[in-house]
Amino acid sequence: MHDDLVLNLRTARFARLAQSEKDFAMANLSQKSMENLTSQIRGDVLTPSDPQYENSRTIWNAMIDRKPAVIVRCEGVADVMRSIAFAREQNLLLAVRGGAHNIAGNAICNDGLVIDLSQMNSVRIDPDKRRAYVEPGATLHDFDDEAQVFGLATPLGINSTTGVAGLTLGGGFGWLTRKYGLTVDNLVSAEIVTAEGKRVTANAENNPDLFWAIRGGGGNFGVVTQFEFQLHPVGPDVLSGLLVFSFDEAKSVLNEYQKFVDNSPEELNVWVVLRQAPPLPFLPTDVHGKEVVVLAVFYAGDIKEGKRLIEPLRSFGTLHGEHIGAMPYTAWQQAFDPLLTPGARNYWKSHNFTSLSDGLIDAAIYYAGKLPSPQCEVFIGLLGGQAARMAPDATAYPHRNAKFVMNVHARWETPDQDKNCIDWSRDFFNASAQYATGGVYVNFLNEGESDQLQAAYGKNQERLVQIKRKYDPNNLFRMNQNIAPS
Ligand SMILES: Cc1cc2nc3c(=O)[nH]c(=O)nc-3n(C[C@H](O)[C@H](O)[C@H](O)COP(=O)(O)OP(=O)(O)OC[C@H]3O[C@@H](n4cnc5c(N)ncnc54)[C@H](O)[C@@H]3O)c2cc1C
Repeated sequence: MHDDLVLNLRTARFARLAQSEKDFAMANLSQKSMENLTSQIRGDVLTPSDPQYENSRTIWNAMIDRKPAVIVRCEGVADVMRSIAFAREQNLLLAVRGGAHNIAGNAICNDGLVIDLSQMNSVRIDPDKRRAYVEPGATLHDFDDEAQVFGLATPLGINSTTGVAGLTLGGGFGWLTRKYGLTVDNLVSAEIVTAEGKRVTANAENNPDLFWAIRGGGGNFGVVTQFEFQLHPVGPDVLSGLLVFSFDEAKSVLNEYQKFVDNSPEELNVWVVLRQAPPLPFLPTDVHGKEVVVLAVFYAGDIKEGKRLIEPLRSFGTLHGEHIGAMPYTAWQQAFDPLLTPGARNYWKSHNFTSLSDGLIDAAIYYAGKLPSPQCEVFIGLLGGQAARMAPDATAYPHRNAKFVMNVHARWETPDQDKNCIDWSRDFFNASAQYATGGVYVNFLNEGESDQLQAAYGKNQERLVQIKRKYDPNNLFRMNQNIAPS
């Protein structure tokens, strides 16, 4: 009975494969090799004729429309190892999908094989040791949700649907970064399947070169199948929210902001957003759709003390409205999700700054005054604090001098707006380049910007190339901001 069932299931799987013969031909895959792969994989093996294929090839940025030959939805490390071996033997282009939020679309490729890790999303917390063991398909929300049950967290990004894997491998920063450093500064160890198909541990004692490289070097060195992070007491309630100011006073608000954050404690983080006001219930309706200056405020400490500390912010200009109070950390981590839903077209340009100079503030106000779509925005995140205490060569991520990171986020709905929106983002990027450090965050690079690697890695690039040569000499892992072995 059991054998019959197994046989029937296998036959159904292979019958589906037979429909895909044309698809395999495209990637030079034989029916036989696909049958072999399917019989070895515990998860789903999806090809273009599969009903789940379309959904599985769709990623956050709708600008990216790629069609892989095969998507393997891995259920465990064995599936990852077998998929890597298959891609290597069949000489297939290989992409790795974590949370699929990468703006450049590196989670997906044309014609090749995608290792889809989204099913491997468990998060286990050890509250006594203050450690999180995180599988590579987990989102920030999966992580925060599990850790917050124990009143713990580690620095992650500001949009809860982002993948832990890609964010960590590029560096990772968010509200807790000033107090506790970058996401990579909190990575203790990782399990990695290399191009050779071996599973290795990377931490301070084992393969320290690899451990250094994955803390900023992206997915260039192998597929991470587990991350171990250190955790810190946070929340469960934090003081957080938004102050929305008149755009007419943008210059003085930004000047006051800069003076304020120069002297604020590391528990406090305040980011700036220049955009058109969304229809938030705490704003008068006549402000909806108008340009505004938003200060997004977060305090990871005693609520009463936080209220005292943020009081001066209210005097920076004329307030259209505010919504600030104690709220669960996990709720604040999701606060920006409605503005960052998947499915829109997106293009980013970003700079790092050591200060917000007068010229930069003027340029920001000029370009924020001519947003080409209601969803475009200029985001200025505040780093520094613990993140700046590390040496630039302590991890592959080198931008320890970046006090501010600005993302010129063009976002729109339809292809006919592509040129307008992309031009706006590039024009502002070019106009503000003279005030920037010249460094760029690798996780904010678009498709086709591999020429920016020097800006992304600076003096760390040469060491990354050496480590790439050691762990992936044939460049199997090249669907990323690629560090070529030669
Ligand atoms: C809405 C939004 C908000 C964001 N906010 C922040 C923020 O606040 N702070 C911040 O630092 N960044 C932020 N980012 C940038 C984010 O860090 C990157 O987009 C990151 O690449 C997303 O990771 P992912 O796993 O979701 O993406 P994916 O597209 O799945 O993967 C990104 C890259 O990592 C590789 N990769 C993924 N998983 C693995 C793995 N297990 N092993 C090896 N390689 C792997 C992929 O091949 C790909 O090259 C944001 C992005 C978006 C879209």
